[in-house]
Amino acid sequence: MQKTVLIVEDEDILREIVKDYLLNEGYEVLEAVDGNEALDIFEEHEVHLIILDIMLPELDGWSVCRRIRKLSDVPIIMLTARMDEDDTLLGFELGADDYITKPYSPPILLARVRRLMDSRYSSVGKVPNEDTLVSGGIHVHFPSRTVTVDGESISLTHTEFEILTYLMRNSGIIITREQLIIKIWGYEFAGDDRTINSHIRNLRHKLDNKASSIVTVIRAGYKFEGKA
Ligand code: CA
Repeated sequence: MQKTVLIVEDEDILREIVKDYLLNEGYEVLEAVDGNEALDIFEEHEVHLIILDIMLPELDGWSVCRRIRKLSDVPIIMLTARMDEDDTLLGFELGADDYITKPYSPPILLARVRRLMDSRYSSVGKVPNEDTLVSGGIHVHFPSRTVTVDGESISLTHTEFEILTYLMRNSGIIITREQLIIKIWGYEFAGDDRTINSHIRNLRHKLDNKASSIVTVIRAGYKFEGKA
């Protein structure tokens, strides 16, 4: 099935270039030139991934990301001309899955799009016959990508879901930051340790229960521990 990418970018030339790359790759493309239009299009169409510029007229990319996250865990790649690390962190805290600083090369953006599409929508690499994962009061249902903690449903971003399930599958084993990066972001990872810290912090906050924990192993990595 053809996948649809929504590009939210007010600069026509930049939007056109990215659009051409995506069309060549076989994606359907929807375009929005400001934040409000992006939200309207998102509500009216089936969108599989969003490329979201931060500096937009009307409603900025942060606000768009925040509002979309209330509705959906669709993969979001944020674009910015700003080099500020705090911006990157804010993006991840708002639930963006990836982040690219302008000027970027379109092939790299395309590689990020492909990676997110594959990990989100393709069945390749998923363990067959494994629909659920249960540990420490956390119940993961893969076909619907839903997670409950002590029976209560929680909402995770795409990246948080991937991190959690990777750690849960390796329960009790230390996973290094490098392993996490390669597994979750691939080799084009542009963030740093703080990016990972931020995702883990969000996850811990959402998972808050007594029977499970994501343990930081100093200078080694992370480990999921679940009782029963
Ligand atoms: Ca812009």
